[in-house]
Amino acid sequence: MKTLICPEPGALRLIDRDEPKRGPGDVLLRVRRVGICGTDYHILGGTQPYLSYPRVMGHELGAEIVEAPAGSSLATGTTAVVVPYLSCGQCRACQRGLTNCCRRVSVLGVHQDGGMAEYIAVPAQNVIAAPELTLDQAAMVEFLAIGAHGIRRGAVQAEDRVLVVGAGPIGIAATIFARARGAEVTVMDLRQNRLDFAKRELGATHIVTAGPDTKAQLEAMTEGEFFDVVIDATGHPPSMNAGLFYLGHGGRYVLLSIVPADISFPDPEFHKRETTLIASRNALTDDFAEVMRAMAAGQVPTAALATHRAPMTEGAAAIPVWAKPETGVIKALLEV
Ligand SMILES: [Zn+2]
Ligand SMILES: [Zn+2]
Repeated sequence: MKTLICPEPGALRLIDRDEPKRGPGDVLLRVRRVGICGTDYHILGGTQPYLSYPRVMGHELGAEIVEAPAGSSLATGTTAVVVPYLSCGQCRACQRGLTNCCRRVSVLGVHQDGGMAEYIAVPAQNVIAAPELTLDQAAMVEFLAIGAHGIRRGAVQAEDRVLVVGAGPIGIAATIFARARGAEVTVMDLRQNRLDFAKRELGATHIVTAGPDTKAQLEAMTEGEFFDVVIDATGHPPSMNAGLFYLGHGGRYVLLSIVPADISFPDPEFHKRETTLIASRNALTDDFAEVMRAMAAGQVPTAALATHRAPMTEGAAAIPVWAKPETGVIKALLEV
């Protein structure tokens, strides 16, 4: 089968490989769409820690069920969403249902080979039938679930005043699900085109261009009270440090970004707010279900999000171009 492989940082090559063998608890899937995200650009760029090459990327998958274990309700030919976080089922986090932060989590397309290939075999518990979604939509559930999980972690409620910092795909996802809960959402970014998108397509209540007077702007907008929940989706350590100062007293600060750096706050600032500081990692099956319900209900502008596409056979040329911010990509999809 055709497979797009990253043999070493900076390279992508289309190769032929044997089709995967389905293990007894696995579902064999025919991959039809692969969403490309920041993680993939980092893998290609060689800046993703804990990774060995060669690696087949691809963790945002829209697929068709080919063969499922006997007795499974997963029917051949059905569109499926893949939960790409393979958890051990044994550790304390798994046993408490927190499979998203399993101690031994292995993510398809990151820690082990993923879905930039014609077929993939995946444990049945990681496959969700999605007959109500298109293949494009199925491939977009995962990155949206990351945002939905962050909003769940932040316990966002109707009337909460939420600030989303960073309007990349994850910030966009957080905005969608905060709005869906009835929160008032301010989106902040450096890029005017992303802010316009947030206002036009996502129903952001306010948009703010980040700059030297950011804090004063936010202070003026909120009568000096700042925000009940701040969601960081910047991937930028100085912004993550600064986000605490945008938080109101009694607020919750959710870090969706993960960076290879220390994040630090002055304790008097952290303490006087009685800050709740929350990390958000991956997503749970419930988050995937929430995204799928929202998509089926027409609450997610999936057509506007899918800005770029190419056949997988042209992925080696297309993906490095999509990595450049000036391309204006929000979500690019490979068609397999
Ligand atoms: Zn992703
Ligand atoms: Zn585990």
